[in-house]
Amino acid sequence: VSVAPLTVRLRDGRAATLSLLTQATVVTVDDEDVSSYDLCGRPYVLVRGGSTWRRALDGRLLEKRPRAGLAASRLRRLVDAAEGAQTLTAARGDAQKMLEAGVPAEARQRLERIVAMDGPALAADAARFAAVYRRVGILPPDQYLAVVLEATEGCSWNACTFCDFYRSVSFRVKTEAELAAHTAAVRDYFGESLALRRGLFLGSANALCIGDERLVALLEVATAAFPVVPPTLGPLERQQWLGRTFGGVSGVHAFVDAWSGRRRSRRVLEPCRRLGLKRVYIGLESGDPTLLAWLHKPGTPADAVELVSSLHAAGIDVGVIVLLGAGGRRFAAEHVRRTAQVLGRMRLGGQDLLYFSELQGHPELEPLGPEACDAQRAAILEELGCLSGQGRPRVATYDIREFLY
Ligand code: SF4
Repeated sequence: VSVAPLTVRLRDGRAATLSLLTQATVVTVDDEDVSSYDLCGRPYVLVRGGSTWRRALDGRLLEKRPRAGLAASRLRRLVDAAEGAQTLTAARGDAQKMLEAGVPAEARQRLERIVAMDGPALAADAARFAAVYRRVGILPPDQYLAVVLEATEGCSWNACTFCDFYRSVSFRVKTEAELAAHTAAVRDYFGESLALRRGLFLGSANALCIGDERLVALLEVATAAFPVVPPTLGPLERQQWLGRTFGGVSGVHAFVDAWSGRRRSRRVLEPCRRLGLKRVYIGLESGDPTLLAWLHKPGTPADAVELVSSLHAAGIDVGVIVLLGAGGRRFAAEHVRRTAQVLGRMRLGGQDLLYFSELQGHPELEPLGPEACDAQRAAILEELGCLSGQGRPRVATYDIREFLY
């Protein structure tokens, strides 16, 4: 925190607190409504009237609200900028009232940026975003606030039956010059708000399928513009380094499918790690090769195990994603048994992530439904043995309906 929170009384009698964080500005009114803005004044998370709203840079908003009487269940609603305008205007009104109440210079400057981001300014900003990014299809949940650099566009495979993220995008790898131009545009677009984004995600899907030499060259371009914190620093020094390094990031992350990644040798993975590649996300989906073939997923579970082993040997962490519910009851027993077996062979450690993602949509893939998916996840974890505690991977939910960039 750069300065202690500042509390003022608004002209309507409510108490408002302003927190000037190094990465964001937070306005809290009556301990109920909490609005968070990046340093350019763009709203990104708002808690108002019992709902949580996340705003994407393209202007859409995702509203989440607990379902009455069902603590674990939430209503989810994606709205466009026009429908979300009322919420944003109300939040911006609180910032305006704080300005009118009189605040010191630094606080005034932050609040003026928030107030300036009215409907037309946010629409213009969304148009700038669209000019910089073709389409950010999906990210792992821990990377929603990363800086995305599109080293590739689309997915090199683009044929898994459960995945629609890149259907309309032709796959291509950018040249170094194209990535350098994209990188400059990304830095320019985010500006000071880069303080909020401490990871670098090399997109799109499957970016690590790029050929060895080109991959290293593209990583060099990316990390020249977004330098990675030196690995030798301790936790406090890392924070200090990130605080004083504009565009500095904690590491580079990317997706790869098991088929494309399986032959990556340490010869190329080690330079990637030295350039800051920290974690690679692999859609295992299932340990059952019959189910994978049925889903048109490239590669085999053995490829995924080999890939994880190569990444670990090079000092790179992994995030492994398991798809719940695909193939319905027909595949369920083998999916549980063989997925647990394969995950066990991966020897996931404390820096790795294990995500469970419930199949959404695609009724032709015979999804199981939420309760059965929960049971499937529990069964995989039980079969795998205890996965909590030190030295064990973090286990989390990957809900693609929650993704916004
Ligand atoms: S490899 Fe990944 S991104 Fe490509 S189609 Fe399959 S699931 Fe989608």
